[in-house]
Amino acid sequence: MMIKKFIYKYILKRKYYRSGICNRCGACCSKIYVSHKRDVIKTEEEFLSLKKLHPFYTYLEITDKDENGLVFKCNKFDAEKRICTIHKIRPLICRRYPSEIILKMGAVMSENCGFYFTPIDSFKEILNEKMKKVNRN
Ligand code: SF4
Ligand code: SF4
Repeated sequence: MMIKKFIYKYILKRKYYRSGICNRCGACCSKIYVSHKRDVIKTEEEFLSLKKLHPFYTYLEITDKDENGLVFKCNKFDAEKRICTIHKIRPLICRRYPSEIILKMGAVMSENCGFYFTPIDSFKEILNEKMKKVNRN
């Protein structure tokens, strides 16, 4: 097994490789849903209590509400220059976006995102592993 595959699969416990680059579309900074305890925040009251938990929440402004919940934009995003004005000290969640962990928590990739994910194991490998398990039981 390749070293890269071994590290991703057994040390980082990932199922996908992340590839691509940020094209600075800004979508992930201007259409944000906030989830807490697996639920997307739906009311301003819920959000106000969250603001005390992490400084990142203090950057967010409500712009809309849709069928998922409240929609926010980050006031640290400069829409004209398409840059994060606190890039060097941006929160960890922003540094890691888009990550498999965040997607597992229910986040959805922005349509124009320059990153993409590909499975570490091929369909054949997954099938073989499943068959081994079935044969063992
Ligand atoms: S802190 Fe920067 S990277 Fe994070 S959402 Fe705001 S503008 Fe985007
Ligand atoms: S959505 Fe993807 S490409 Fe667009 S700014 Fe965010 S990370 Fe970069």
